[in-house]
Amino acid sequence: MRVPILAANWKMHKTVAEALAFVEAFLPSVRDVEGVEIVIAPPFTALDRVGEALGGSNVELAAQDVHAELFGAFTGEVSATMLSDVGCRYGIVGHSERRTLCGETDAEVGAKATTLLRNGIRPIFCVGESLDEREAGRAFDRVGEQLDKGLAKIPSEQAEELVVAYEPIWAIGTGRTASPQDAQEMHAFIRDCLARRFASAASSIRIQYGGSVKPDNVYALMAQPDIDGALVGGASLDPESFARIVRFAPPEESK
Ligand code: PEP
Repeated sequence: MRVPILAANWKMHKTVAEALAFVEAFLPSVRDVEGVEIVIAPPFTALDRVGEALGGSNVELAAQDVHAELFGAFTGEVSATMLSDVGCRYGIVGHSERRTLCGETDAEVGAKATTLLRNGIRPIFCVGESLDEREAGRAFDRVGEQLDKGLAKIPSEQAEELVVAYEPIWAIGTGRTASPQDAQEMHAFIRDCLARRFASAASSIRIQYGGSVKPDNVYALMAQPDIDGALVGGASLDPESFARIVRFAPPEESK
């Protein structure tokens, strides 16, 4: 049984005070939520204080990125040991914004995922095609390539710790969501790729969908057999909206 995992990616939003105000409003509204993992990825500057505020709750802390090395002359970077030190249980790697804006390669993303796993942090490993790739009929090839190159060094014994996030780039922050059927088709393909690499462990790996997930569309996405959660950007910045998403109730019941 795969426990659904709903994660907030706050990107470069929220000061420490704003992050703490979110937690104060959010925690009471999800205290009764069971059978679901809830994760928040604040910016690095708020990790420590948000981690403290989440202590003892049913919400876990994640980092938005990590460096592949553990220490050294890497100005501006943050290591897996530092993230572990402030209580991160998850780390996002390979987000399309980092691939596009910072030029991260599939191999670099893979190295980051491997480092996280070695240091007891579960990677949320992002993949997804651009609009050009989708329109050219290359979406499956591109996602397959990201998985092949990025997961090459992940040991099979640790595969179940992985979370994969399928985020079509054309759906991120655009208000345009993949249809539940299109998303399911890609998630099933991703699970097949994972099965070729990790055999039976693939059935335990959670695959999140990301790209303009909102309280009103999350139910239909989560109803798909291979969609095990969501990675949420914009709609996770508001505590009430993210609380509705983690419940993923049918739209008429979620108001
Ligand atoms: C994301 O950044 O991971 C994301 C899915 O953003 P949004 O929900 O805003 O599309």
